[in-house]
Amino acid sequence: MKFGTKAIHAGVQPDPTTGAIMTPIYQTSTYVQESPGKHKGYEYARTQNPTRDALQANLAALENGKHGICYASGLGATDAILKLFKPGDEIIASSDLYGGTYRIMVRVFAEFGLTFKFVSLDNPANLEAALTDKTRLVWIETPTNPLLRIVDIVAIAQITQQRGIRLVVDNTFASPYLQNPLNLGADLVVHSVTKYIGGHSDTVMGAIVTNDDDMAARLKFIQNACGAVPGPQDCFLALRGIKTLHVRMERHCQNAQRVAEYLQQHPKVSQVYYPGLPDHPGHELAKRQMRGFGGMASFELVGDSLPEAVRVMESFEVFSLGESLGGVESLCTHPASMTHASIPKPEREANGLKDTLIRLSVGIEDVDDLIEDLERAIAQI
Ligand SMILES: *Cc1c(COP(=O)(O)O)cnc(C)c1O
Repeated sequence: MKFGTKAIHAGVQPDPTTGAIMTPIYQTSTYVQESPGKHKGYEYARTQNPTRDALQANLAALENGKHGICYASGLGATDAILKLFKPGDEIIASSDLYGGTYRIMVRVFAEFGLTFKFVSLDNPANLEAALTDKTRLVWIETPTNPLLRIVDIVAIAQITQQRGIRLVVDNTFASPYLQNPLNLGADLVVHSVTKYIGGHSDTVMGAIVTNDDDMAARLKFIQNACGAVPGPQDCFLALRGIKTLHVRMERHCQNAQRVAEYLQQHPKVSQVYYPGLPDHPGHELAKRQMRGFGGMASFELVGDSLPEAVRVMESFEVFSLGESLGGVESLCTHPASMTHASIPKPEREANGLKDTLIRLSVGIEDVDDLIEDLERAIAQI
């Protein structure tokens, strides 16, 4: 089955009692048993819920994996993965990382004895150099947030597989429509469903997909034992969003390409980060491992002045200033003060993230209106 058909049909079937085509929202905390221990496979809603089951099966199909496991947020999913490890285990993560992922690693799990190293993994040789006999997990994002660097999943997976180290890919920015890390050698894919998968800025949720039966069993155990489960209404909204994921992503890609090309020729723009631009350092690699370049683009203004960047962000009329990404509406973010504020400034700067960088989540509005909005806002400086 191809992607668009899976998005609409995988994991869902008409409701057996009424034929309702949409999976019902099973808004229940418990299930009545016929006699003690004699039930229909559902005991308590933290453990199992039919709306969640449908979503989990659907997400597994979209990532070409066997097991899908959903959590109350993307970071809930990250938390579950990190709980698979023990004090003394070392985790190597790419230095260009979602701020919240960095924060849960260094502020929460480091306290429990996991050790973390942050390494620039857009060059896979850096991973070889950083590995020790304690390394158990490698964590990458690609494209990265907010600099849209591309990490070579196949090259990283070759290194981790040889040594029996697990590889996690945070696939939030690409979505399963544009990239399937399990097919490229990753062991686990993690998503903030909040973003493109949900797609309508109305749900917070996370998911993990894997082919590994043992890790899936442990992650399901953690889902139930630690309890960060999504509610049935949110599962319904995610399922509903997924039905148009392929159509939305096509338009996100087209619009972001146009926006990036427009910004690149603008005399007041000094730098544009978008993997769909031929001079982007990861362009060829992105063509190999992705089916499109996505809806995220970042840029810097000539002169590198923070007050001017702020003025531009305040002047938008179609782009809304806000955290998050991946919804149908266009958003702009100031990573240094918003999504990445939890990363200390020296570390941000060492990593190439300037305080003047503006990140765009290009929505699926009419692109002419988006370009007009950029034109008007940049004209304010
Ligand atoms: C938003 C985001 C997360 C965290 O997801 P939440 O649903 O907000 O908990 C993780 N990784 C990336 C790349 C994100 O953009």
